[in-house]
Amino acid sequence: MLPAKRENAAVQKQADFAEFVELTPTAPITTARHGWRAKCLQRLIRLDLPVPRTVALSCEGVRAIAAGQLPDTAKLVAMFGGDFLVSVRGSPENPEWGGPGTVLNVGMNDARRDILAARLGREAAEALYLRFVQAFATHVARLDPDMFSAAASPTALAAALAAYEAETDEPFPQDPARQLADVLRSMARAWEGTTARLLRQAKGAPAEAALGLVVQEMALGIGPGLSGSGTIQSVDSITGGAQITGRFRGQSQGRRASPEETLYLTRDPRGASLEEASPELFAQLFSHAQACRARLREEMQIEFTVENGRLAVIDAVRVARSSRAAVKIAVTLAQDGVISREEALLRVEPRALSELLHYQVDPLSPRDGLGRGIAASPGAATGRIVFTAAAAQASAARDEPCVLVRRETAPEDIRGMHAAVAVLTERGGITSHAAVIARGLGLPCIVGASEISLNPKERTLRGADGRILREGDTITIDGTNGEVLVGAAAMLEPALDDGFRTLLHWADNVRDIGIRANADTPDDARTARMFEAEGIGLCRTEHMFFDEDRLTVMREMIFADTAYDRRIALERLLPMQRADFTALFDIMAGLPVCIRLFDPPLHEFLPQDREGIRELAEALDKPLSDVTRRVEALSEFNPMLGMRGVRLGITVPEIYDMQARAIFEATIEASRRGAQVVPEIMIPLVSAAREVEIVKTRIDAVAAAVKNELKAEFTYRLGVMVETPRAALRAGEIAEHAAFLSFGTNDLTQMTYGLSRDDAGRFMGVYVSQRVYAEDPFHVLDVEGVGELLLIGAQRGRERRPGITISVCGEHGGNPESIAFCRAAGFDYVSCSPFRVPVARLAAAHFALLAPREGGWVK
Ligand code: PEP
Ligand code: MG
Repeated sequence: MLPAKRENAAVQKQADFAEFVELTPTAPITTARHGWRAKCLQRLIRLDLPVPRTVALSCEGVRAIAAGQLPDTAKLVAMFGGDFLVSVRGSPENPEWGGPGTVLNVGMNDARRDILAARLGREAAEALYLRFVQAFATHVARLDPDMFSAAASPTALAAALAAYEAETDEPFPQDPARQLADVLRSMARAWEGTTARLLRQAKGAPAEAALGLVVQEMALGIGPGLSGSGTIQSVDSITGGAQITGRFRGQSQGRRASPEETLYLTRDPRGASLEEASPELFAQLFSHAQACRARLREEMQIEFTVENGRLAVIDAVRVARSSRAAVKIAVTLAQDGVISREEALLRVEPRALSELLHYQVDPLSPRDGLGRGIAASPGAATGRIVFTAAAAQASAARDEPCVLVRRETAPEDIRGMHAAVAVLTERGGITSHAAVIARGLGLPCIVGASEISLNPKERTLRGADGRILREGDTITIDGTNGEVLVGAAAMLEPALDDGFRTLLHWADNVRDIGIRANADTPDDARTARMFEAEGIGLCRTEHMFFDEDRLTVMREMIFADTAYDRRIALERLLPMQRADFTALFDIMAGLPVCIRLFDPPLHEFLPQDREGIRELAEALDKPLSDVTRRVEALSEFNPMLGMRGVRLGITVPEIYDMQARAIFEATIEASRRGAQVVPEIMIPLVSAAREVEIVKTRIDAVAAAVKNELKAEFTYRLGVMVETPRAALRAGEIAEHAAFLSFGTNDLTQMTYGLSRDDAGRFMGVYVSQRVYAEDPFHVLDVEGVGELLLIGAQRGRERRPGITISVCGEHGGNPESIAFCRAAGFDYVSCSPFRVPVARLAAAHFALLAPREGGWVK
């Protein structure tokens, strides 16, 4: 007998019995108080599904248990009546947050075993008991699982009971109330454990996320007649197409089941089915699945048990699904009127769409990892290793897929990148040359793979584990998660089906910010159209000059000693550029096309090594010493901050003149045979209004000359790329000369932080892991710093020129968080790599639905 004081304490330690609520159609159950599973089971009960008696324990009650206040489990046992045998399942607020595993057969003891043996046979009764002892020993008493892993056999139960007693110095508990109390306590504490906490927080659970518990009368699935357990769902988890799938295993319980007596659910030539074994039961199940779909407004997987022909529905969970299936399911539910289109849109995570656009490594296949880097462009591809652009081209000519592996890429590697199926660089960050180009081309790409070291001389690659691969060896680049794999991995195909297109059309109807694509070539433009971008927001013209024939003319232009020689070279480039622009205008069929004038430092077009210089001297028919001197003269200490962009346009104005003429002539040509073109011309790297004024005067003059020569009319829009902090600050006066301002957030981030976009990859990992930066600012817009410059620039630009078009065309344009920022700031559009357009369209729709703007938006 306890002394009075302790007795009182014991009474106080019992949680309020009211924390147990039996699930009935009207019981006061909420997801917030009792978790999703309790709420879901109540919904099944409301649908009149045969759910065994179930009691929910609130999150508050579970918290009290974890803190040491035990509920009165004897009363709970009494609620279930004489034949107490239950399962206990976790019920967190969100099923994605995980939780403790289910414990079945709580209440099993020697006496119950004997009663069940009379009904089900000794073997079945012992199997049920054994299963509980195993779960209790490992999950509740925390004993070594190896000691309790034996399969059911005539001696297994006795051995498990003996092992339990030997390890704990007490016999296996026989009192169901004590068993239940121990199970509840261990589940409550497991939820509070550090590992469980970290795991769920990684899945987005808040720190205070709580767990409810559900105690349910066991439906056995073992015994005479048709008995067993299974699952059923009406869609395929991979494709999302309508398809009854699942399993039924005779004489089994829960998800762990014996392989014998496995039945197909529907009629199947490969073997017996539940549909044939019991058409009535199958019909019931089918109608339950339909009811769940219609009333729970979701594709559910129903877990059921059959005991002597009687069906019990013990649980239902949202069907696990691939990204492709998620799109298909959401669209079909909306088309069937089960959910609204808006809800369908919100049910698909925008980033998941990028998985559908590319081949992916099959998540179920084995992976042989060589090392990791930054996942710079999604998708996966397999090919042989090549170390130079020339080798990549040779490989493509032999029809052999190759992966271009470089320390970092330079503009002259572009042809090699075109020829490769994927790109891997040892250095570089998310906006490095390799990353930007690969995203544009839709090539899987990993950059900054510092775990892997490259030896270009020996043409080898050393993996994180020391393995050496050579040129010609096969690797797979998983650009979605940044892993380099040895050999050819199994792949899943892209899935641009009707569901995908339909969902994105619905997204277009609700979003309130424009989405354009960055496209430099006709191929890019076709991809942009395929993904239904609303135009081209950035055409980087320098990318047009790297074809072999053009590069030579470009170099001639750079080496010209006199204005006359330069003009001759530019005259040869003019028809090539005109053809480029005409092709873009034709493909874009009247949609806006924003062409950026030449931006990079000239020296990027020059050879980097002796051999290249010698070849160039030969091609130009100039003395080697002249060429070497010129190359040296053009080299800069810091080319990114040197003679590039508009600075080149002002000091060598003939280049912009030629480009403007090509654009205008192409405008006339394309408008004659198709939709009217109003080209947009954009000046890069501006930092002073006067730069714009000077360039504008020349371009206006070129326009007037072309109109006069060709006796044609056209209009055009001239705008400025805001990518230096000074341009953002002086956006007011710049706007006086500009019809639009487009923020180049790659350079703007680089210059705001003073952080080289090509070198930051080396330390970005450390910076982010130590939380110096919350994210890589080249990837997710730095809202506080760079974002403030965007706001200042937009505000000053609009003040001086109301109605001016404002956009972002840096890589951030395809990043959902950054799109949210641009939309909130009232920008007109974002422009991103073509392959990111679908994600941007859906993300923009989400923001419009979640935070509608007053007064709407006029496209
Ligand atoms: C930018 O700087 O944001 C931009 C789009 O231009 P680039 O990446 O070509 O420098
Ligand atoms: Mg730039």
